[in-house]
Amino acid sequence: MYNCKDSINLLLEFLEGNMSPEEAQHLKEHLRGCSPCVDFLRTYKATSGLCKKALAAKMPKEVSEKLTEYLRNKIKSTS
Ligand SMILES: [Zn+2]
Repeated sequence: MYNCKDSINLLLEFLEGNMSPEEAQHLKEHLRGCSPCVDFLRTYKATSGLCKKALAAKMPKEVSEKLTEYLRNKIKSTS
């Protein structure tokens, strides 16, 4: 049986997408019986969502202008 520390390490690997199915199974079993780890996962997901939003807000002006231009052309060509 995995303890919380093991599970959190696994969790981070899982979120980065490099976990074996066997490890994922161990993790699921731990999460079923451990609400602190479930809370951690929820918090982690919420936090990384916020980071993505912050990154999008910081998109360089050049990039957002190119994107706008691209979308404008796309709209033109379809109408
Ligand atoms: Zn735990």
